[in-house]
Amino acid sequence: MKPHLAHFRFHGCLKDFFPPEQREDLISCRFPGNPAIKDPIEVLGVPHSEVGAIRVNQVPKDFDYQLQPGDNVDVHPRHPPPPEYPPSFVVDVNLGKLARWLRLLGFDTTWRNDLDDREIVDISVGESRIILTRDRRLLFRRDILHGYWIRSDQPDEQVVEILERLALWQHIHPFRRCTDCNGLIQVIAKEKIAHKLEPLTRKYYRDFFRCSQCGKIYWRGSHYDNLMKRLQALNHARDHHHQHQ
Ligand SMILES: [Zn+2]
Repeated sequence: MKPHLAHFRFHGCLKDFFPPEQREDLISCRFPGNPAIKDPIEVLGVPHSEVGAIRVNQVPKDFDYQLQPGDNVDVHPRHPPPPEYPPSFVVDVNLGKLARWLRLLGFDTTWRNDLDDREIVDISVGESRIILTRDRRLLFRRDILHGYWIRSDQPDEQVVEILERLALWQHIHPFRRCTDCNGLIQVIAKEKIAHKLEPLTRKYYRDFFRCSQCGKIYWRGSHYDNLMKRLQALNHARDHHHQHQ
């Protein structure tokens, strides 16, 4: 079968999937037969979970549309992608720091360092969690509905990227989730845990919280101060980010 030619233009943050010199170009793609349009989009390297509106020759189409010779395809990013706010996440194995960050900010975040790709996809689908990954191939899997490919490789920048792209600044809720296990944190009376505290902690702090799942104890002291400092740094990074857009 003689291959046909179609032309693609990717918009907005979907350009991130291409090297800088290709980002403004019309990308031409040869294809045999009339594949569903989702296939060539992924062959070109863009996961379907990142795609929003598709227009073919200026007419809106969905993923089932069968590509025709000479089609001009405009592909727009999906945003905001989450099914609900605040969204919950399942984070890829090599992004443990990011997972702790998200928990620190109060977001329901599943992360384990022993999950394989199949398990991550199953958790995402079964629990409506957004997959966060640096591995775009993971997002090519057919059954994924919600996924986001993280552009930055720096944990601090990754957090800002997610807060920005998913519009989550208003949903930050510190002292809600345990950074170790994602369990919910509850206020606990000091006298109930006083015997577990270091003498200086017992002496200087009043407000304590305990993870309902693993029992880790938090207090408004060093944890809190560190968190506030980091949030201020994040906000600073955010302003910086806006200035450069
Ligand atoms: Zn915990």
